[in-house]
Amino acid sequence: MKTEMKKTARLLKGKEIAEDLIGGLSRPIEGIRKSGAPLCLAMLQAGAPRDVVLYAKSLGALLNRLHVEQISRVFPEGVSEETLLDEIEALNADENVTGIMVFSPLPASLNAVSVLNAIHFLKDVEGRRVQRGVNGRILSPTASAVLALIEKTGCEIAGKEAVVIGHSDLVGKPAAILLLDRMATVTVCHLGTRSLREHVSRADIVVAAAGKACLVKGDWIKEGAIVIDVGENHVAGELVGDVEFEAACERASFISPVPGGVGPLTNVMLVRNLLRLHELQRAT
Ligand code: NAD
Repeated sequence: MKTEMKKTARLLKGKEIAEDLIGGLSRPIEGIRKSGAPLCLAMLQAGAPRDVVLYAKSLGALLNRLHVEQISRVFPEGVSEETLLDEIEALNADENVTGIMVFSPLPASLNAVSVLNAIHFLKDVEGRRVQRGVNGRILSPTASAVLALIEKTGCEIAGKEAVVIGHSDLVGKPAAILLLDRMATVTVCHLGTRSLREHVSRADIVVAAAGKACLVKGDWIKEGAIVIDVGENHVAGELVGDVEFEAACERASFISPVPGGVGPLTNVMLVRNLLRLHELQRAT
């Protein structure tokens, strides 16, 4: 009797790509440090949601490893908008600060748009403002990580049907724009989308960034699709993505795991942005 081999997707391990990129970043960062004006990232945190605390820890570890200076300002959840805006203004004016990031989500009592827009565009390390008139855009680190993983497959993006689930300014929208720029036909799904399954099942590339554990069922995935799982959800003490991983592996050609896929690469892309800001600040 013939036993059928279970098909399984190739894993897109962001961690491995991240290690390669870190190797390439060390030398320019060291050069800048020796020149006497080291890279410095200022990080603002309001409250201490679990995801933010974990993210701040992993980013801090990468910055330490690369000898990038860091300023960490942790405010209580009830911090006023005025206090945050004053802090951002001071960091904008501080010549020693290369980039500023504000951890999301901010407490609901604050107006996130006005806080994020207070960051000077030449210090906006997550590319959260639309920039005009500067030499090059700063891209969302998470969207850059998504694209790097898709490019790692070696598959052509142009002409493909891509479905992005999630339309946040930080992940979904910039990921969709990067795919559009590479001539994919892009559908962006969100909470208002009627039949998510239908959209996903015709996608050659699926980017799941909804923050809902196992929202995307494995049997929705088109045979041979590339699946990038951005979601980070804590379920029974474990970190899981937005895609039903095991079942999706049986249909996808490539899939990024959670953890170990998009996450580790995002931090490296953020440090790349910091280097780019350093260049732009010196060119203006
Ligand atoms: P967000 O809450 O700002 O946006 C979520 C998006 O998903 C919205 O557009 C919403 O409409 C959509 N959505 C929610 N439920 C849906 C559903 N049932 N069907 C269709 N669409 C739905 O979140 P975000 O900041 O964009 O983050 C999304 C996920 O990605 C989270 O799990 C977050 O932790 C993770 N994340 C990971 C990284 C990383 O580097 N790995 C970075 C940023 C965010």
